[in-house]
Order: sequence, then structure tokens, then C-alpha cells
Amino acid sequence: MRIDIMTLFTNMCKTVLNESIIGRAIKENLVEVNCHDIRDFAFDKHKRVDDTTYGPGMGMLMKAEPIYLCFENICEQLKNEKKENYKKPKVIYMSPQGKTLTQKKVKELSREENIVILCGHYEGVDERVLEEIVDEEISIGDYVLTGGELAALVLVDSVARMLPGVLSSDECFKEESHYNGLLEYPQYTKPFSWRNKDVPEILISGHHKKIEQWKKEQSFLEL
Ligand code: SAH
Repeated sequence: MRIDIMTLFTNMCKTVLNESIIGRAIKENLVEVNCHDIRDFAFDKHKRVDDTTYGPGMGMLMKAEPIYLCFENICEQLKNEKKENYKKPKVIYMSPQGKTLTQKKVKELSREENIVILCGHYEGVDERVLEEIVDEEISIGDYVLTGGELAALVLVDSVARMLPGVLSSDECFKEESHYNGLLEYPQYTKPFSWRNKDVPEILISGHHKKIEQWKKEQSFLEL
């Protein structure tokens, strides 16, 4: 899978994408993530990416044209890469007005070949470019962030970990919260006794069936 992020803050994205499990997955080419600076596509005298809104209301809005040119550039790259197999990538705008991200949506997106993510900033983005290029708006929750970058990184992280090879085995996410509509059971590591709290005896009983039953019960209790 290839993911392209359109942002005004590429370093913010790159810093996070360099680390931990996703950082390793990118190095091992299990997923490709490119960060594009929308400012590189602002061609007016002052390289402006934002301007005041029409009508009453305060604040600045991201201009349509630099975003559109940035998107065109990504499409050109994809066309060169895919040749006759090229098809328009799925374009997602991170937005508090979007549908709230769920594990179901994450699973669905992990089947895409190409995703382009647009990160807004300031008061948001000129509606016309959203109409022109965006397929879907996704929110990461009912609160407002200063920019779409953290939201985009949440999306990339949750989608990338579903890709083959990113986690050590499929079981890693199949047993996890939300995968089957359940939440994960409590888990324990060494030592057996910690500050007078012992690990539940059942887990060292060796009865696999009973342990599975216990896990299931605990998952229901979490709901
Ligand atoms: N004026 C807008 C908020 C803009 S916040 C409004 O009232 O709805 C600036 C940018 O941050 C947005 O364009 C969006 O890309 C991002 N953003 C803010 N909150 C978000 C959320 N909950 N989920 C996803 N993206 C969010």
C-alpha cells in the first residue's frame, strides 16, 4: 500500500512515521508513506497557502489551488508508477465534520492500494477543492484539533498495522479490541506477584479451553 499525506507540516508527520512499528514497516517496504508539502505548490508571489474567508467569520482558510496542484503531482507520480493500471487514489480529508473513524473503517481502508490524505489547518479548507478531489471525510473524534496531521497519523498508524507483515502475526490484531466488536481481556506479564497483586490463577492453570473461556468472559465484561 502507498499512502500520500498532503500537509503544511511534513516534519511533524515524518518525525512520528520514523518511529517504532510503523517506522520499521516503512523501512522494510511493507508500506510506503510520502509526505508532500502543500507550500511547494503555492506559486503566487508570496507562496501563500491560506487567505481570509469570504463572508462574515474570522480566521484563515487553506486555498484551493496549492492543494489541487499538490494532488495532481501525486496523481502524476502514481500514473508513472502504475502506467495502464493507474486508477484515481482514494482521497480522504481529515475533518471534524467527517464520519468518526472505527476499526471497521480501518479494516476497509487497509484493502486500498493507494490512499491520499489531506490535512487541513487554520479554519479548514476552501470547500471547492474538497468537492473536486475528496472521496471521504474522516474525523478521529468529536473534538477539534489545530490541524489534520495528528488525525492523519492516527489513520496511517491504525491502517498500516493491519497490513501483512507489519505485526508479528495476524493473531496480534485478531485478538485485539474492536476487531470482532469486542474489547480485549486484561493481560499480565512477569512477575507473577506485583505489590501484593497476583496474576489470575486461571492463566497459569494450563487449561487452554478454560483460559479461552475466561478471555471471552472478560472481553464481554469490558463492554
Ligand atoms: N473550523 C473547523 C475546524 C478546523 S480545525 C470546524 O469548525 O469544523 C483545522 C483542521 O484540523 C481541519 O481542517 C482538519 O483537517 C483538522 N481537524 C481538526 N479536528 C479534527 C478531528 N476531530 N478529526 C480529524 N481532523 C481534524
